[in-house]
Amino acid sequence: MAKHNKATLDGNNAAAHVAYAMNEVAAIYPITPSSGMGELSDAWAAAGKKNIFGSTVDVIEMQSEAGAAGAVHGCLTAGALTTTFTASQGLMLMIPNMHKIAGEMLPAVFYVTARSLACQSLSIFGDHSDVMSTRNTGFALVACNSVQEVMDLGIVCQLATLKSQIPFLLFFDGFRTSHELQKIDEVDYETIAELVDYKYIEAFRQRALNPDRPKIKVGQQNPDVYFQGRETVNKYYDAAPEIVLEYMRLVAEKTGREFKLFDYVGHPEAESVIIAMGSGCETIEETITYLNEKRGTRYGLVKVRLYRPFSVRHFLDVIPYTAKRIAVLDRTKEPGSIGEPLYLDVVSALKNSSDLYIIGGRYGLSSKEFTPSMIKAVYDHLDNRGFHGFTVGIEDDVSHLSIPIHEEIHTVPEGTISCKFWGLGSDGTVGANKNSIKIIGDHTDLNVQGYFQYDSKKSGGITRSHLRFGKSPIKSQYLVKNEDFVACHNQAFIGRFSLLDGIKENGVFLLNSNWNRDEVFSQLTQDMQQTIIRNNIQFYNIDGLEIANRVGLGGRVNTVMQTAFFLISGILDRQDAIALIKESITKTYSRKGDEIVKMNLDAVDRVDEALVKIEIPAQLPAESMNPKKLVSDNADAFTRNVIEPIMREQGDQIKVSQMPRDGMIDTGTTRLEKRRVAPFAPHWIPENCIQCNQCSFVCPHAAIRTKLMTVESLSDAPATFRTLKATGAEGYQYKVQVYIDDCQSCRVCVNECPKAALVMSPIEEEREKGEQVNYEYFDRLPNDVMASFKETSMKGSQFKQPLLEFSGACAGCGETPYIKLLTQLYGDRMVVANATGCSSIWGGTFPSIPYCKNKDGKGPVWANSLFEDNAEYGFGMRLAIDSNRRMLRSAVEKMMDKEIAPELKTAFGYALEHWSDVDETAKENAHKIRSLLPATLAKAKDCCIGTLRRIKELESYFIQKSVWS
Ligand code: SF4
Repeated sequence: MAKHNKATLDGNNAAAHVAYAMNEVAAIYPITPSSGMGELSDAWAAAGKKNIFGSTVDVIEMQSEAGAAGAVHGCLTAGALTTTFTASQGLMLMIPNMHKIAGEMLPAVFYVTARSLACQSLSIFGDHSDVMSTRNTGFALVACNSVQEVMDLGIVCQLATLKSQIPFLLFFDGFRTSHELQKIDEVDYETIAELVDYKYIEAFRQRALNPDRPKIKVGQQNPDVYFQGRETVNKYYDAAPEIVLEYMRLVAEKTGREFKLFDYVGHPEAESVIIAMGSGCETIEETITYLNEKRGTRYGLVKVRLYRPFSVRHFLDVIPYTAKRIAVLDRTKEPGSIGEPLYLDVVSALKNSSDLYIIGGRYGLSSKEFTPSMIKAVYDHLDNRGFHGFTVGIEDDVSHLSIPIHEEIHTVPEGTISCKFWGLGSDGTVGANKNSIKIIGDHTDLNVQGYFQYDSKKSGGITRSHLRFGKSPIKSQYLVKNEDFVACHNQAFIGRFSLLDGIKENGVFLLNSNWNRDEVFSQLTQDMQQTIIRNNIQFYNIDGLEIANRVGLGGRVNTVMQTAFFLISGILDRQDAIALIKESITKTYSRKGDEIVKMNLDAVDRVDEALVKIEIPAQLPAESMNPKKLVSDNADAFTRNVIEPIMREQGDQIKVSQMPRDGMIDTGTTRLEKRRVAPFAPHWIPENCIQCNQCSFVCPHAAIRTKLMTVESLSDAPATFRTLKATGAEGYQYKVQVYIDDCQSCRVCVNECPKAALVMSPIEEEREKGEQVNYEYFDRLPNDVMASFKETSMKGSQFKQPLLEFSGACAGCGETPYIKLLTQLYGDRMVVANATGCSSIWGGTFPSIPYCKNKDGKGPVWANSLFEDNAEYGFGMRLAIDSNRRMLRSAVEKMMDKEIAPELKTAFGYALEHWSDVDETAKENAHKIRSLLPATLAKAKDCCIGTLRRIKELESYFIQKSVWS
């Protein structure tokens, strides 16, 4: 039996552990959520870590996933054990080489964090759409349901590929298993090495291309032989399942953990059985354990492990003889098919069992939650012989395929402690919780699980850390719902999110706020107050920001809150907890210098004294905070029904009918958000200001702006609205305005200001000074007042309205100021073909769109195709615009010898003469044509109608568009 090295790892780490052990080369290209595997391998290689063969793995980063797959193919062909890591469209780019690798019977294991494919929109989250697209490559497909399985089955795959000569794709759910921390048994390299049968490695190298034994790989076969050639491999695929099973047994002998090609769990005489693969199986198992024990149901589950080659014999062996109804759950969607892939395989495998009622359903696309309550709904549906092709976890009010969830059940084993921490991206909450769960995992005998949920706002977004620990194994592959402990690391979340919705009776609520002991309870919403009183919640408050500031950590409250969690929870002895936190601080921050380590250690020492247990009144107090209004009362239906729930982190409630079918939405929605995440904002000191506009120029978020304004336009300005006599613009006033509710506290403007005319000031002080009212007033003042300034000068450009504002980019982002400037120069005729990466996330995440419109309703249009094809995509846009402009010009030329209103003819003539002009005169001329066209069209003779209609259809192309890739 192997040594049991307990370690708290995530799925990527477990996969990298095995991949590194059993390969000689890794050709990689990073893509979320698989990047962790490549990063770890790279770091280990850089540190000289040895694999089981005693060598350091050669980790090569290629130019794309296509390149990585090509390099893997070449490496295997020339005789080195090679691996790669990928997901989603990255895997799609590997498909051409995967066919070749499998066709040439080259052993390899690809590690895939299964992720959604970009369809109506990209998604970095998990489902099986990518893996299912590789079904016909010839790779064996193996599903892992947990971090432990990634490690164990990774070893099985590495061994099986060598013997079977079939390449393997080992997959696990992206952003669930890949990023979930679990305490597992780490199989040491010595044990792995003992499992390897070296004769298969020798055979592999013997088959490599080598001039010492010259051979070639056939380049081309004709119709006479290609078909026969394809059929030569059948026996290898027939043999593969038994080979996989053989290694499952061998690994089990070493580890004590047994797997089969299909594993059955549940009631031995189940009548209703679900068939599924991936992390959802863990939750299904937890649910049926609960239902079978507590409610006497007879439910079962078949976990598919070896999906390709699909062994019908082994599959039939595990179906209970009592089974009457089967629901096959697929975590993918194949539009237009009669069933999803696993369903079709199961139906085919059970074709001789005509008495079985078999249906298929979809769940969990893009990491959509898949909870015990949803699983119960599936069994209910199945028990009632419900319809095929259902969905669960959403409300589909369009095609009515979704099944209802009638009952909320909580199936987490008793004694498991569930905790949820609400943090702000980059405040260190996630990092601290990762440390916490490792501390608990490594220093207690408890099972642990840590899962970290992010929004797409980058730093400054909302993070939620979901921690569970307990004596029983943790199979809950879903977010913490029924919390024993809730921590809110930012007081701005109160009134915006439902922080205490699921907290258990006698639970604990820890708040980071600057409210004192006497006022803090009245600063909660009435809902929260009621929950605390009714559920007998212990409520603690700490001013973490004050401590963090005092010790020099700025806004990073993570260490304070982590210490408070350990002191309150009592999971470890207080002294032990503090010692372990300090140890982990030294380990984590020593790279950043002694000063940072000391600041964090100081913070730990101040927590006990600052932590306050709040006395809970018996009755609701007279005062409470009103839930924050996030959108205006007259907001449109889309804003109220879609944008607002998403802003409140309740997007799961949005129905199918509320979503655009083609991924197209309106721009300018980030201004609705008013995220109010800045603890400090710049304060303008007019006396020092030289009106250089550099602050506005560098602001990544368009949260500090400058305007020129006439004295008359300021007649109703608020008393606190200070302006300066404009320099170089006689008769105008000048102002720098901070949009304090959109500011991210990055300080870039303060650092840039040459005259110390900006200082950081606490946000509440700025609000008290009237800056909210001021920016609302400033916003209503006319934009683009230029006086004699040119938009092409640095200063002048900042009097133009930015048509990119308040994006979710990280505070201080270096990309957005450039794009913002482009929108100031070209925004009203700008077309963006965006690559995939940061700029596509802050630029186009539903429904927060930072690109916006000017007063004429014109503004940038934006789209993102695939990963790095923005040049080709933009080229296509250019071709379309040029084509439309050519057609327009031809139609206008035709009209020049026709009898039409002289005014229109003159405007047409000007347009033809100044066809490439984009200045104000050309724009006014285009506007004039648009206003004259309807009347002309109404009176047009038959001979002109077609041409005029064409001009009307293409009228927006009178002004050349500016395409950016
Ligand atoms: Fe005024 Fe400073 Fe802004 Fe220049 S950078 S406009 S001096 S506040």
